[in-house]
Amino acid sequence: MRNTLLQGLRPPLTESPPASDDPELLALAAAVKSATERTLGRSLAIRHVDAGSCNGCELEIHALGNAFYDLERFGFRFVASPRHADMLLVTGPVTFNMREALKRTYDATPSPKWVIASGACAADGGIFAGSYAVADGVSNVVPVDLVIPGCPPSPTALLKGLLALLEGAKG
Ligand code: SF4
Repeated sequence: MRNTLLQGLRPPLTESPPASDDPELLALAAAVKSATERTLGRSLAIRHVDAGSCNGCELEIHALGNAFYDLERFGFRFVASPRHADMLLVTGPVTFNMREALKRTYDATPSPKWVIASGACAADGGIFAGSYAVADGVSNVVPVDLVIPGCPPSPTALLKGLLALLEGAKG
């Protein structure tokens, strides 16, 4: 009992947040803001599709909405329906149970649309590659415009990926 009580007094085991004046983050934020305004007129609707992720990727995606990254200040927002989306952000190796759902979600998204495969699993199956139950990556099911590597990709890597996509769309 004493040990249990003492364990409760330990500091949180979470990582320290990035500094709000981190120069890399500030430069990235400025670049994303400028690319968003030029390319999209300040609005991009993202439909996230979990196609069998372990949820590690989701934790990092959720962090994009916190006070440090604050994705919505760039005009990006997550939407509940693919019919309202410009982009699909797909995580996981695409389990066979999710394969049809991913195809239908893609078909329900109006064109023009982008697909991002986020994380090592979405890229090529990652640690699940070769399993009897997965399609070994998003590109084996729907066309992919950009792969963001990492297991899982950090919020900064996700922002860099979105920036790369916007920069590519500009030309
Ligand atoms: S890339 Fe890593 S964190 Fe993301 S779903 Fe695969 S195992 Fe999980």
